[in-house]
Amino acid sequence: MSLENRYFSVKNRINNESVNLLAVSKKQPIEKISSLYNLGQRMFGESYIQEAVTKIESLEGLDIQWHFIGPIQSNKTKYIAKYFNWVQSVDSHKILRRLNKQRNDCQSKLNVLLQLKEGEEESKRGLHVDELLDICASFKEYRKLKLRGLMSIPAPTSIRAEQLAQFKLCGNAFQAMQKIVPVDTLSIGMSNDLETAIECGSTMVRVGTDIFGKRV
Ligand SMILES: *Cc1c(COP(=O)(O)O)cnc(C)c1O
Repeated sequence: MSLENRYFSVKNRINNESVNLLAVSKKQPIEKISSLYNLGQRMFGESYIQEAVTKIESLEGLDIQWHFIGPIQSNKTKYIAKYFNWVQSVDSHKILRRLNKQRNDCQSKLNVLLQLKEGEEESKRGLHVDELLDICASFKEYRKLKLRGLMSIPAPTSIRAEQLAQFKLCGNAFQAMQKIVPVDTLSIGMSNDLETAIECGSTMVRVGTDIFGKRV
């Protein structure tokens, strides 16, 4: 299938005008980003800072909204603050403090999603619900950041009941968040489970493989 066919078939699967499609372009060549841009796509997600900065600089001038979705180490925050419009994978006050300090005053506010932890394994990234709600309550101190909602990456499973159970937890956490702060973005759903995520209230799906094909 061509990039164009894959793109429009993902858009057909979404089939909902209020759900945003984030095209996850990590490990994909710049030419494919340009092609997708020419088909009308404007939101792109990247996970690796060096690769992302190269792409963002070479596509400067295009009307692209860049989202950082990868794990964040402290030494990356200055690049995220400088180059990105959104960051979806925030899981601590420490990272928020750095981003807020490093965002330039002349830039628009950096849009932030807090990452919700799925499951109890220590190895997993993200915040427990109580930690997440705690951060919401004190988010006002970050004047150069705008809290938009939550992101989660549930453990991959092809069993629908398990997908539903995981996404419902995200939906509940998002509603709890909305009682504290005005947030509008629930970023759940990827290539394999986007339909189920949308049923559970997703407002943004993050799709890589099903648009671009396998990563190189
Ligand atoms: C890679 C990635 C995606 C896209 O995954 P696909 O299965 O290729 O659609 C979505 N979200 C995050 C956080 C990712 O790292």
